[in-house]
Amino acid sequence: MNASEHLVQLGREFHRRGWALGTSGNFSAVVSHDPLRIAITASSLDKSRLVPENILQVDSEGRALEPAAGKPSAETLLHVAIVQRLGAGAVLHTHSVWSTILSDYHLGHGGFFIEGYEMLKGLSGVVTHEHREWVPILENSQDMKALSEETARLLEENPKIHGFLIRRHGMYTWGRDLDEAARHVEIFEFLLESVGRRQMMEPQY
Ligand SMILES: [Zn+2]
Repeated sequence: MNASEHLVQLGREFHRRGWALGTSGNFSAVVSHDPLRIAITASSLDKSRLVPENILQVDSEGRALEPAAGKPSAETLLHVAIVQRLGAGAVLHTHSVWSTILSDYHLGHGGFFIEGYEMLKGLSGVVTHEHREWVPILENSQDMKALSEETARLLEENPKIHGFLIRRHGMYTWGRDLDEAARHVEIFEFLLESVGRRQMMEPQY
């Protein structure tokens, strides 16, 4: 399976699981690091109907290499920032209910910790449930240049995180390849729902 087919398969699966409904979410994989070439979903497409032709290649400025093939995702610059800052091989962005709710609730503290959950061990390099995962939150914006600069800053300040949220918007996570990034989406979505439901039972928790 090549990168385009893999991205299509993930898009359809994430739509089915409620993490990328409608045209929300965008997904990318690095094709080459030098020069930087990233395969990414085109803008404004229903993720349940993705086909390999909907995957475009962009350069380190987020520009489409073949502009006639379509417009890359509006959030391409955030993918580029994550790849450049961390050397990630794949970046996945979802719009789930739980990431949307928690990113709003915890914005005042700049983020929140997830700790004590066995499922944390699904994050790369984490070997114990005692791990404390900081999940930072950025304020949402339609200025993608500014948001990508804030993303770069956030990653510089928090080099060990596995993902972050954007307020009332969604989650970004990544991995060394698409398999690892997809696992991180699954793990985070489980953890975010667990944290959110737990808080509802006992709001002071
Ligand atoms: Zn988004």
